[in-house]
Amino acid sequence: MRRPLVAGNWKMNGSLESIRGLLDGIKRGIGRVKSAEVAVCPPYVYLPETQKRLTGSEIAWGGQDLSTEMSGAYTGEVAAPMLNDFCCKYVIVGHSERRGYHAESDELVAKKFAAARAAGLMPILCVGETLEEREAGTTNAVVARQLDAVIALQEADALADGVVAYEPVWAIGTGRTATPEQAQEVHAFIRARVAESNQDVAEGLRILYGGSMKPDNAKELIGKPDIDGGLIGGASLKAEDFLGICTAAD
Ligand code: PEP
Repeated sequence: MRRPLVAGNWKMNGSLESIRGLLDGIKRGIGRVKSAEVAVCPPYVYLPETQKRLTGSEIAWGGQDLSTEMSGAYTGEVAAPMLNDFCCKYVIVGHSERRGYHAESDELVAKKFAAARAAGLMPILCVGETLEEREAGTTNAVVARQLDAVIALQEADALADGVVAYEPVWAIGTGRTATPEQAQEVHAFIRARVAESNQDVAEGLRILYGGSMKPDNAKELIGKPDIDGGLIGGASLKAEDFLGICTAAD
């Protein structure tokens, strides 16, 4: 039985004041969430405040990205041990905004996945196709390529220490959600792909859906057999909406 996970990706949003309100709002309502695991990924600079407010609660937290390196002359980067200093459990790797705006290759993302794992963090590996790729019928090929880069560097066993998030790029922040059937099809494909290398890891792997998930569509999506929760952008910025998705995942 895979425990559902709902993780909020706050991206580059908020201020110290608004982040405090959001953290407190989620904390106040978390008692309503019965079985799903809940995590939030604030901008790096708000991790100390997040740690301060969430320590002792049921809610986990994590980074939105990390460096492939553990330390050194990499201006602007944040290393896995630094995330450990603030007791992060998770770290997102390969988000489509990183792949797109920062030209992160599959190989670089695989190295980030490995760096997170080496430091004991649980990477949330984002995969997903663009609209052009879907329309060209290459969704599975794209997702397989992104997944295979991690498996090639680390073997499929490495995925036992991580989470995969299927995030069709055309659904992120657009209000255009994949149908539960479309999402389930890709989730099943991902699980089958991992099973080709390791059946046990595939069965235990949590595969989240991300892309305009909201309280009113979460239940139907997470109700599908291979959808084990969500990676939530926009709707995670309002405590009530985020908690609505978390309870839908129960
Ligand atoms: C995301 O950025 O990971 C995401 C899923 O965003 P949104 O929920 O806003 O589509």
